Amino acid sequence: MSPPARSSGPPAPGGQAPGGPAAPRPRPADAAGWSGPVAGGGRPETVDPARLDQAWGLLSARCPGRVSRDFALAPLTTFRLGGPARLFLRAESGADLAALAATLAAVPLPLLVVGRGSNLLVADAGWPGVALHLGQRFRGIRIEGEELEAGAATPLPSVASRSAAAGLGGIAFAVAIPGSVGGGIRMNAGAHGSELADRLVWAEVVALAGPSAGEPERIKPDGLGFGYRRSALPAGAVVTAARFALHPAPEAEVRAEIDEARRWRRDNQPVNQPNCGSVFANPPELAAGRVVEQLGLKGERRGGARVSEVHGNFIVATEGATSADVLALIRLAQRRARDELGITLRAEVQLVGDFNAPPAPQAPGPRPAGRVAAPPASAAPRTPEPGDARPEVER
Ligand SMILES: Cc1cc2nc3c(=O)[nH]c(=O)nc-3n(C[C@H](O)[C@H](O)[C@H](O)COP(=O)(O)OP(=O)(O)OC[C@H]3O[C@@H](n4cnc5c(N)ncnc54)[C@H](O)[C@@H]3O)c2cc1C
Repeated sequence: MSPPARSSGPPAPGGQAPGGPAAPRPRPADAAGWSGPVAGGGRPETVDPARLDQAWGLLSARCPGRVSRDFALAPLTTFRLGGPARLFLRAESGADLAALAATLAAVPLPLLVVGRGSNLLVADAGWPGVALHLGQRFRGIRIEGEELEAGAATPLPSVASRSAAAGLGGIAFAVAIPGSVGGGIRMNAGAHGSELADRLVWAEVVALAGPSAGEPERIKPDGLGFGYRRSALPAGAVVTAARFALHPAPEAEVRAEIDEARRWRRDNQPVNQPNCGSVFANPPELAAGRVVEQLGLKGERRGGARVSEVHGNFIVATEGATSADVLALIRLAQRRARDELGITLRAEVQLVGDFNAPPAPQAPGPRPAGRVAAPPASAAPRTPEPGDARPEVER
């Protein structure tokens, strides 16, 4: 389905008009030529401090007040773990993204996009390059007929609630997924038999490397290489907005679906302790939680990390946990699943940074970054409500 014409309604959720006045033609992500010096995820190179200084100078000149150095990433993740990003940009406009693309063209650095951090395990050493976080200007929802458009920083639970208020069904499942629209598209987030790819009309994507760097493009689902809890969105690309096709449904019916999804989470998942949701994607043979349970790993600990007794596919971080502790449990489960059951467990959580590097020095203050402090109830991941002024991960 081609994107409907923009209305002259409220400001577009992407900060600037997504896609500009005329929507660019969608094209397959793998033809976009975004691979190159900018990397995201995986095992990044060590970065020369002189390059960071240079990038800092270029970026802070064009994005004043929105660039930080040695910025703690742990508070931006639901695990509350991991070290700092050497450089951090909170983007508030398409111009900020263009500035980042220009900086990366001049000074290639590893790039990490951080959404609501609900599917990230950041290494204790932190992120050696630049981390990009979309700010408040990329947050917002508007409805046009049976379609819902949202900025990429919008929490998925807000999308679900707003769809109910508009009498639209088809995306209520997103209520209990504590990620953002952008992170949800990269991960093809889903629950209860549905996933975002099923509803997506287009995603607006800005490449931060390659020939069209800095330019927004609308890409249809068949250009995004969706699979189960994954997409082929290039690492050097950021989703800035998305449009979903829904269908008319009585508000009470959608709200009942939302309530049921919330109730199911409360009854079946460790909602009061820092975690990242499902650690492993479900293998074809058996649900990942059942695999972990069959291996007798529920309750298994490494340092401050523990396999949840409530759900075998969750690892929770308790006081003193580090990302290395969580990774040790992940590797243990993968090894034993392979050796004892012949099952391959693929990590769904995104491991970012160098897990072989020493932990970053801890920040001064009462709550060191990268290590879980005594868990106040408020530290646990929570499902944001539509009335939230700002998502808990934003500053
Ligand atoms: C309690 C709990 C329950 C969960 N339940 C579910 C569930 O039912 N179903 C499910 O699918 N997932 C679930 N998750 C996992 C998680 O919420 C999803 O994967 C979600 O889509 C991640 O979105 P995020 O914004 O938090 O992304 P992040 O965790 O910040 O990032 C995840 C990946 O997306 C990339 N990314 C983030 N934002 C963007 C962007 N704007 N553009 C491009 N790339 C981006 C990151 O670089 C990273 O590779 C759960 C997590 C928790 C903590």
